[in-house]
Amino acid sequence: MAKKKDISKYLHAHMDKQAGIAHSQKRTKIVATVGPACDTYDKLLQLVKAGVNVFRLNFSHGTHKDKRATIKHIRKIIKEEPYNIAILGDLQGPKLRVGDLYKNQLLLKEADEIIFTSQPCKGNCDKVYISYEHLTKDAKVGERIFLDDGKIEVRVTEIINKTDLRVTVIIGGLLLPKKGVNLPDSTLSLPAITKKDMEDIEFCIDQKIDWIALSFVRKPSHIADLKKLIHARASKIKVIGKIEMPEALKHLREIILESDGIMIARGDLGVEIPIEQVPVIQKDIIRKCMHRAKPVIVATQMMESMMERTKPNRSEVSDVANAVMEGADAVMLSGETALGQFPVQVVKTMSKIIEEVEKTVYEYNREDILTPQSHSPSFLSDAICYSACKLAKDGQADALVGMTQSGYTGFTLSSFRPKCPLYVFSKEKSLITQLSLSWGVRAFYYPEEESLDGILNDQLDILKERGFLKSGDVVVNTGSTPVELHLPTNIIKISRIT
Ligand code: PGA
Ligand code: MN
Repeated sequence: MAKKKDISKYLHAHMDKQAGIAHSQKRTKIVATVGPACDTYDKLLQLVKAGVNVFRLNFSHGTHKDKRATIKHIRKIIKEEPYNIAILGDLQGPKLRVGDLYKNQLLLKEADEIIFTSQPCKGNCDKVYISYEHLTKDAKVGERIFLDDGKIEVRVTEIINKTDLRVTVIIGGLLLPKKGVNLPDSTLSLPAITKKDMEDIEFCIDQKIDWIALSFVRKPSHIADLKKLIHARASKIKVIGKIEMPEALKHLREIILESDGIMIARGDLGVEIPIEQVPVIQKDIIRKCMHRAKPVIVATQMMESMMERTKPNRSEVSDVANAVMEGADAVMLSGETALGQFPVQVVKTMSKIIEEVEKTVYEYNREDILTPQSHSPSFLSDAICYSACKLAKDGQADALVGMTQSGYTGFTLSSFRPKCPLYVFSKEKSLITQLSLSWGVRAFYYPEEESLDGILNDQLDILKERGFLKSGDVVVNTGSTPVELHLPTNIIKISRIT
């Protein structure tokens, strides 16, 4: 019989007994973007209590100084409260923008002709600067260029010289300085990682944040390049590929395989491709990510109307509910929490939608459809995880407990979307917060590795002590034996708590 270890050091601060109650039982995670509307300690804590699992730092806005302060607040919450919150740094990437404008605005009317130039200048009714040195090389006559999230549309009519091209306005509007530019028809020779991104990556590595998202990914090599930078610094940050370009859709499978996670960045995606295609593509990406056990985030305009109002639109409620039913790991808030008037209210509303759907619908419970693939190098451990989820379902288990060192078992157990609560133990501290992005996962730090019996007993004791399990509960454990060899997950155990 394995001797009982002292587990008191793995119990969280003061609120341990209530931890099970303090935590929301929702499985789909919420990512909230930090900005001036929520960047104090008190507001961030309120957002966490309302259901936020991951905070997103948007490197398109704000300074490193602000972000350092935010990170400090989040770390304090993790230390003092019973929540594991992940921090996600979102790089701006090679975002193209118009330059400054004379009079700070410019009215473009249908059929107007105007020159776009890659030479910096203050824009006027003759010429507007576009921050892209290969503009005249990549854009071809007849191709469309969109300004300001696609609100303004022009078509290229003439390549004048190395820096200038002429366009005709198709859909007019009032152009403001620094607005985004999209060239959906062109094949772009943009760098994957800009000079600014490099500085932001350094910052993220220094701050030991959990995830970095790369914007405007077009090829799997872009993800690989970022991973190389991270590994060269011996950092454990995981990488999210943002799907927002038509070219990324062509290489979707390879990008998912190369990334640790995926964001469906519907803002730019809805400009780059016909907007009516976005819902079906969203569903397809979610399914592919679940199949590969990669966490997937649905992003942008989920609760946009709540930036100014206390109640969401009906269509927004359906959008969030739909993402949950499709099986997204996480739903994301951008301006709603960063700049909106009701950041706490919007998270509470989102949590309620998620909880309601999860109470009644289990369509995302895909374990019977997406079975492990025998040609996969991880087939055997995938099969164990799959069977553990199935056993938990058939045995009407109250908890599924896994152990992970690389994160793989955590992500894989989650990918089968098991109905019962999922607890994951790891001796890798970075994973405890990283796994907060993953559907249904609640992670715990546990570094001991003497005997398997001892480990499994301790895990159940920790869960009991923290209020997640009670006597009589049925638990399915996965693990790996012999313990000292650190093999991929290779055993399942089912037991009843006494
Ligand atoms: P962004 O990404 O807010 O950084 O542009 C999200 C999106 O494009 O939807
Ligand atoms: Mn984007």
